[in-house]
Amino acid sequence: MSESATRDAIARLAKSMFERGLTFGSSGNISVRIEDGWLMTPTGSTMGGLDPARISKLDEQGNLVSGDKPTKESFLHIAMYEERPATGAVVHLHSTHSVAVSCLADIDPTNVLPPITAYYVMKIGTLPLVPYFPPGDINLARAVREMASKHHAVLLANHGPVVSGKSLEDAVYATEELEETARLFLMLKDFKTRYLTDAQVTALKEKFPS
Ligand SMILES: [Zn+2]
Repeated sequence: MSESATRDAIARLAKSMFERGLTFGSSGNISVRIEDGWLMTPTGSTMGGLDPARISKLDEQGNLVSGDKPTKESFLHIAMYEERPATGAVVHLHSTHSVAVSCLADIDPTNVLPPITAYYVMKIGTLPLVPYFPPGDINLARAVREMASKHHAVLLANHGPVVSGKSLEDAVYATEELEETARLFLMLKDFKTRYLTDAQVTALKEKFPS
């Protein structure tokens, strides 16, 4: 995909997520790997109205080449790319249901959500919780980097998900699957629930390796 088509795709998918309430205000950010660096949504921009021409372009070292200044959360994206070389795009949202789950007291920090559906297992699989650190704390970057080396999706405590994918579409669709699964998890919490069994999860992971 050309750089200009990638810029248009970022703006189109960001607007789609904004219009469906997956992101709001100036929260959330997207990045995509391109031939000579990255494209990243700018700081203070709203996903509902991105100007493709003003999307930040960074070189391989993370320096701004053109466009507006990148999101202050760029370190979340860079950690994923550096720890997972096959990453083509990263999405980070403050989507309501995922954030709600990230605030629960009694969740398993090694894998926050149970295997509710096959598509969740195929698109996310395992979702570790990154402990809470205030914005800008170097320990947040360290913790994300450590978990990104083993997982393509992580959930920041009291904050939101960071999801990488091979392509922009992969990363967006996996993030949406995570948000909908968080919503289902909260809907089901007062009902006796039959999750997929360990054997069913193992069979899915063998058939559809991520
Ligand atoms: Zn954030």
